[in-house]
Amino acid sequence: MTAPAANGGPLLDVRDLVKHYRSGGLFQRSTPPVRAVDGISLDVAQGETLALVGESGCGKSSAGRSILRLQEPTSGSVMFEGRDVLALGREELRALRRKMQIIFQDPYSSLNPRLTVGDAVAEGIQIHKLADRAGTARRVAALLEEVGLDASYAGRYPHEFSGGQRQRIGIARALAVEPSFIVCDEPVSALDVSVQAQVLNLLRELQQRRGLSYLFIAHDLAVVRQLAHRIAVMYLGRIVETGATEELLANPRHPYTQALLSAVPEPDPTRQRERIVLSGDLPSPSAPPPGCHFHTRCFHQLRDGRCSTETPLLRPVGATRAACHYAEHSSVAQVTAPAIPNQ
Ligand code: SF4
Repeated sequence: MTAPAANGGPLLDVRDLVKHYRSGGLFQRSTPPVRAVDGISLDVAQGETLALVGESGCGKSSAGRSILRLQEPTSGSVMFEGRDVLALGREELRALRRKMQIIFQDPYSSLNPRLTVGDAVAEGIQIHKLADRAGTARRVAALLEEVGLDASYAGRYPHEFSGGQRQRIGIARALAVEPSFIVCDEPVSALDVSVQAQVLNLLRELQQRRGLSYLFIAHDLAVVRQLAHRIAVMYLGRIVETGATEELLANPRHPYTQALLSAVPEPDPTRQRERIVLSGDLPSPSAPPPGCHFHTRCFHQLRDGRCSTETPLLRPVGATRAACHYAEHSSVAQVTAPAIPNQ
């Protein structure tokens, strides 16, 4: 997918975002913080989808929530439509939330079981005083139909719906306040594959119709392949590779991206890839390995002592930007099959 041109600068511009969690107990003062997000920079243009991809625990959801200030970031800057989001007071932030919405992974837990679907969708319209009573009912009916649900469902409760339908309700709720930017936090990972495709199609149609921008968080490159204009791959709180979707998937330069990509089913049977299974678990984000965070699991044939002492910078390599000292020597054909790295 070709990325839409950034018209007069990006809609969202995030620089050096950090989110560390500290344990609060009296006897835990010396416990190192959990470095969930460790200095990431990204931008999203109007009408664009940037996918933030990485395995569970890499910090991608913390990044999404910090950008929206659903949790306060430790440091960094978040500019949205030219405004400094981290400097906004409570009322200004509340007003801005209309423009910046989120769709959650688990649509059931994000819906109040005691509210009808109509009331749940109407909530944002009422909070932001976007319509009177009759106007709200009309808007709710139109929103339900826009996300592929019957307007008569407004009087029903969330437990009466399937997972896919509940996610459509969650999308209608987010759309109700007419946002320009939505963080989609693993919105299809709890759904069956066929339902995933329907919800992804709906998100794509809504983007085209409304000019929406998405930060699409996922753990699976297969999910983002059809939707994302660009991809940023995250590992232990850092972005390790980023680029346009087609280029990044065709020639990933970071070994971690290569491992993620090897798990994606290849539709062309003549081009099957060898599956790269990473050794070991994701290290603890409260004690990330020094140098390149990935060095304890890296299978690159050139990995050496420099990797465990010197942090690789995110830099242009081929058609993407990769944070690997040896990314120039790191096309898919050149990486060795997974070996157990020396610790
Ligand atoms: S810098 Fe070294 S450890 Fe890190 S990805 Fe590159 S080769 Fe592997």
